[in-house]
Amino acid sequence: MNKIVIATNNIKKLNEIQMLLGDFNIQAIPQSDFNIGSSEEPFNTFIENALIKARYASEKTNLPAIADDSGLCVDILGGAPGIHSARFSDEPSSDEKNNLKLLKLLDNKNNRRAHYYCAMVFIRSPGDPQPIIAEGIWQGEILKSPRGNNGFGYDPLFLDYKTDMSAAELSAELKNKISHRGHALQKLKQKLRIIYDQ
Ligand code: IMP
Repeated sequence: MNKIVIATNNIKKLNEIQMLLGDFNIQAIPQSDFNIGSSEEPFNTFIENALIKARYASEKTNLPAIADDSGLCVDILGGAPGIHSARFSDEPSSDEKNNLKLLKLLDNKNNRRAHYYCAMVFIRSPGDPQPIIAEGIWQGEILKSPRGNNGFGYDPLFLDYKTDMSAAELSAELKNKISHRGHALQKLKQKLRIIYDQ
């Protein structure tokens, strides 16, 4: 079976990606299985950061790689935390501290519109001149207090318009159907079907 390394050390993200690739006939191996650490994310765009993560994992493992770079973009904050979503609060940052900081910044704000964004990339090799890139967006708004225990990151504060539930109240299956990561990976899979003849 063809092997692809999944370039993330975020176990929650990894679970989502592996679930989404479940019906695809490839072996998706987490980069943690190779003990290779994480790459830097020095760029100002999600796509460039996803590419550097994928190249790092592919170079270290000699395998094709899939990487995602994603984050929460809040309209009234000019798109912040954006590419800084994981480390929004002071070091050592945590999901809890990030969420508290977000709530404080939005205190008394009526415009709470936000979206999650995901750039998902696939490369055949570290120097692949034709990376496959797919994007996904999930529209919603920031709640005034956390709801739900599923998911990770900003999910307890992110209200999905269509279901009127927070992302942390959704089951893993439903989140994967409607999320930024779910949409990006579905699009990526369509393109991978050609490469892997599936
Ligand atoms: P990355 O691992 O550098 O791509 O950073 C992703 C960060 O964006 C996470 O640590 C979360 O803070 C946020 N994020 C991205 N996707 C999600 C999601 O599906 N739910 C909640 N937070 C997310």
